[in-house]
Amino acid sequence: MRAVITGGAGFLGSHLCDAMISQGWDIVCVDNLLTGAIENIQHLEKNTKFQFVQQDVSESLTFEHAVDAVLHFASPASPDDYLKFPIETLKVGSLGTFHALELARKNRARFLMASTSECYGDPEVSPQPESYWGHVNSVGPRSVYDEAKRFSEAVTMGYQRKYGVDTRIVRIFNTYGPRMRLNDGRALPNFLYQALSGQPITVYGDGKQTRSFCYVSDLIEGILRLLDSNEHLPVNIGNPHEITVMEFAKRIRAITGDRVEIVHRPLPQDDPKRRQPDITKAKKLLNWEPKVPLEEGLQLTLDYFEKKLAEKSAGSG
Ligand code: UDP
Repeated sequence: MRAVITGGAGFLGSHLCDAMISQGWDIVCVDNLLTGAIENIQHLEKNTKFQFVQQDVSESLTFEHAVDAVLHFASPASPDDYLKFPIETLKVGSLGTFHALELARKNRARFLMASTSECYGDPEVSPQPESYWGHVNSVGPRSVYDEAKRFSEAVTMGYQRKYGVDTRIVRIFNTYGPRMRLNDGRALPNFLYQALSGQPITVYGDGKQTRSFCYVSDLIEGILRLLDSNEHLPVNIGNPHEITVMEFAKRIRAITGDRVEIVHRPLPQDDPKRRQPDITKAKKLLNWEPKVPLEEGLQLTLDYFEKKLAEKSAGSG
């Protein structure tokens, strides 16, 4: 069995490569390295079940051999990244999704697209069930990501209905863990990096907005179960444990030795006020729920960040 994973050198994509290889799959990892990194997949370089192709899936996606599954994970995913690369984000969600779906259609392969809780925008309903249509500002700065992913869901459903492609859609909520980029701009990398390098932790706004953070191994397990299911409609995968951003900052400060202060910075436009997945569907359909508590996941991520920072300072020293 062979799977193509677009965005396979990214944070989630690279964990997916590892998990599917250990399930026995041959993996073709396609990435243009815009926000992904070779170091995420370096450990797979000599693995005969792994192949890396540097390619922009918004331009094209072809593969000369038969493929059994296509998992479309290519896209900038941090707000900082998609604001920096708005056109690339729109293209990979639209053209990239078409290309990935065409590859699946030609091969009669299963297809899974990485969607997002951003489809719900700044939600008026909490927790968010899959049946909620969302509250998205189509012309705000975040729309390049939100609308690209909503369009990507629409194309996926179109291919399922029109051509019978065997599709899945996972709506991924905030996820964290090793291989997040130290400087990717999201709350967790920022807070950890700041605390470890002795800088103040920057909380945007009053910090009362909430998120619900899922450890990466739990998320990957949910995705693999969805891939094995028969569900075409979207499924939320995330950890329902909701926490304010201020509380999150305090937790990170505490595990790094309580050495830095917390400062406030302006809240970005359209920043969602609440976000919490309703995972009733995933529980019933996939018999899945997250297992890793925040303390444990944060410790594992802290270990990774400390190692990366030590490598960085050794490299520059
Ligand atoms: N955030 C923050 N400080 C930072 C980075 C992010 O307070 O240095 C906030 C951000 O405004 C949002 C939450 O943390 O309310 C989560 O942001 P992130 O970029 O991680 O992901 P999002 O859920 O917005 O996609």
